[in-house]
Amino acid sequence: MSTHKVDPATRLQNSLHTDSFFGVNQAISDSATFSFADGKQMMDTFRGEHHAFLYSRHWNPTNIELSKALAAMEGSESAWVTGSGMAAITCTILQLCKTGDHIVSSMTTYGGTFAFFKNWLPQIGVEVSFVDISDLEQVQAAIKDNTKIIYTETMTNPLLQISDIPNLSKIAKANQLKLVVDNTFTPMIFSPLSLGADVVVYSMTKFINGKNDATAGAICGSQEFINSLIDLNDGTAMLLGPVLDTYRAANIHKNLFTLHIRMKQHSRNAEFLAKGFKELGLKVNYAGCEDHPQHELMKATMNTEYGFGGMISIDLGTVEKASEFMALMQKRGVGYLAVSLGYFKTLFSNSGSSTSSEVPEEFQKKMGLSEGLVRYSVGLDNHIEETFEVIKSCLKDLNLI
Ligand code: PLP
Repeated sequence: MSTHKVDPATRLQNSLHTDSFFGVNQAISDSATFSFADGKQMMDTFRGEHHAFLYSRHWNPTNIELSKALAAMEGSESAWVTGSGMAAITCTILQLCKTGDHIVSSMTTYGGTFAFFKNWLPQIGVEVSFVDISDLEQVQAAIKDNTKIIYTETMTNPLLQISDIPNLSKIAKANQLKLVVDNTFTPMIFSPLSLGADVVVYSMTKFINGKNDATAGAICGSQEFINSLIDLNDGTAMLLGPVLDTYRAANIHKNLFTLHIRMKQHSRNAEFLAKGFKELGLKVNYAGCEDHPQHELMKATMNTEYGFGGMISIDLGTVEKASEFMALMQKRGVGYLAVSLGYFKTLFSNSGSSTSSEVPEEFQKKMGLSEGLVRYSVGLDNHIEETFEVIKSCLKDLNLI
């Protein structure tokens, strides 16, 4: 197993140029189109023989800066930014798969991804087999002659399984497949490309931006792959058109440079709550706990410094109990009963009836998703021990402990 560790935060810091004599933040490009010196230059640019901005849906000066920073963080040759995480996922998949192809995917993924795989891709003749991604034999056995992609999330939503990227990469390489990894839950904590993934996708709506004021996504990979995405004739990013607005890109660019500090605090707080929940005798799922099935795998493959992440789930058994508990926590100021994650205030939701509601009940059962699962995205609270006391009071008053 590869134990290659990298330091994404330092790579990111070092990517900033301090030799410009204008603003410390980049100027925001306010142009959808760009002028050419003459007709020949325009023609050459469209033929790819001259490098210039031709139209904002393709590239623009602001999105290039954010993409460069993301590529530095991920250690990828290039990156491209999208208007949502789903846009990053769908453009990547559709670029790599054509009618008649097949994908092997983790059964536990974000509900929107699952729905795209299960309901949408079959309409264009792409078939998906869902496997328990922690069972490498199952992954291998699901590969067919027409398989093109192995797809997984580094830390899966909502079950928080950890994918064995080095070994999945070995399987992918041996079968000439692309390993596509959604690293939304664990930016900086994991560097999937360094562990052998071919393409990394993000919902930047979550931890990377961290403000819940925009949806955004990113695709990080080889220069060749990013170029294929924006090819004028058959690039999915260019032709489906999910480009990120430049004002949002500039904001996210600034937020990216505090990501390492935020990830450390999210992790610290989540670890505190996970241990506290355990002491109360609750059923807790947190990758930082020694009894998590992939705790050792995570330790061996994660980057040091950033902790085990900000996501925890606890199982309260029934939807009704989960619902009452979440409402009371919200009333008492613990956080918001809302989907999404990576926000500075704690967010909680009942996965089975929200972000995984697209996953049919039989699949939810198969993957071990309990109806009473409450997923926490733990916030940046300065005194998490005080927050824990409030959560404990909610559990007590509802006779849950
Ligand atoms: N990937 C994961 C792991 C997610 O949790 C989500 C959204 O919850 C997405 C992708 C989709 O991202 P977006 O909502 O930005 O389209």
